[in-house]
Formats: sequence, structure tokens, C-alpha cells
Amino acid sequence: MKLHILGCGDAFGSGGRNQSAYLVDASDRLFLLDCGPTSLLAMKKLGVDSGNLDVIFLSHLHGDHFGGLPFFFIEYLYEKTREKPLHVAGPAGTEEKVYGLFDLMYGKSNKAGDLPTACFHVLHPGSKTTIEGIEVFPFRVPHQVNEVSLALRVSYNGKQILFSGDSAWTDAFLEHARGVDVFICECTYYDRETSNHMSYLQLKEQLPRLSCSRIILTHMGSDMLARSSEISCAMAQDGMLVEI
Ligand SMILES: [Zn+2]
Ligand SMILES: [Zn+2]
Repeated sequence: MKLHILGCGDAFGSGGRNQSAYLVDASDRLFLLDCGPTSLLAMKKLGVDSGNLDVIFLSHLHGDHFGGLPFFFIEYLYEKTREKPLHVAGPAGTEEKVYGLFDLMYGKSNKAGDLPTACFHVLHPGSKTTIEGIEVFPFRVPHQVNEVSLALRVSYNGKQILFSGDSAWTDAFLEHARGVDVFICECTYYDRETSNHMSYLQLKEQLPRLSCSRIILTHMGSDMLARSSEISCAMAQDGMLVEI
């Protein structure tokens, strides 16, 4: 299974990095974890056919994590006819927000009803589900107060990836990272302590407690990037390939 880091930037595109998107190529399945605005662009740079995308899993509905979906829809409408539906799975409200965003961006002459078929799935925190043979276990993480933000543990063909989405530290990561092949963990700040994002110094204290094969930091803000020589963990780069 190949994990392509399409976008490891934060909401501000710090360091000129693309926004959140992780492409998993499992030979007979192609799926995305998050779909930031730069996702289709990054997929084309990589030379991967967007028509083969089976599922898009969304951690939460902030623009840097789901704002790329209308570009896929417009691509499928004009450039690449889909023969099978695109599956989109995210927290409650995903379907309304995605179509609402599409309408804002392209709605004057293109209505959601003209779009290729998309099958929307609501991910309920704590409830495992399987979409196109890909098992996903979503759990709620501390990032938003009223809206739901999820971390996603996905399993396919015996391989497991945990993706934190956007989140402050929570001990739930200890349980759900156990045994995974790779933990893609957001680390927005170096030392700033907040209730909605991780800081490296906080995470560093937790590293001995984590029992995953590998951890890769992502969603790094400007202070994290400026202090990259002080970071002892692997840091994601756009275009990086991780073999799982
Ligand atoms: Zn974000
Ligand atoms: Zn966010």
C-alpha cells in the first residue's frame, strides 16, 4: 500500500505547502484522507488518474480539509466521466456543506443535480463502518466545540493508518494508534499550547506511550517549520511517498 502525501500544510499554506490531503493507493482501491483545496492539483502533479478515486474520507469540515471537493465534481462533470459513484464519508452535515460549497463556487450554471453520482456516508464517532471494502473507525477529537472533528483509523488489506485530523492531544490516540502501521499526526505548533491543535513539545512527552510502528507529523505551522532542525520525528513533505 502506498501513502502519498499530497498536502501537509496548515490552513494558511505555511511554507508554501498544499492543504490537507493524503492519497492511499492500495492497488485495487484508491482513496483520500481529507480533500483540501489543492488536492486535485496535487493528484495531477503526481500523475494519478482522478477518475479512479473510490472514496474520500473527511476528518472535519474546515475549508483546508474539505474545500477541494467542488474541483473533483467539476472535473467529473466536464473532463472525466465517472462510471461508478464517488463515495464521500465525513461527519454529519458533510453532504449539505459539500453541495452548498459547490453551489457557491459553480452553482450559477451547474446545479448539484447535474453532478456525477456521489454516495455520501455519515461517519458516527465510535462506530466502525466499511465503505467499498475499506474499514474506517472514526472517533471524536478536540478541535471544534460545536461541530464534530474526527480522527480516522482506516484498515485495508491488513494495513492500518491512523490520521489525527486536526486535534489537540487526547489520550484516545494511545488506544487507537496501537498497532497501526503509520500514525499521521497533526502538529501545528512547536510550543504554543491550545485546546484545538497539537504542539510538538506536548506530543514529544507522549511519544514513549505511543505504540505504533511509525509516526509522521503534518499540518505544520510556520513556527514548526522554522524549528524543524529541533524535531526528532519524521515530518511530512508534499510529494512524499510512504510505503506501508
Ligand atoms: Zn486544518
Ligand atoms: Zn480544522
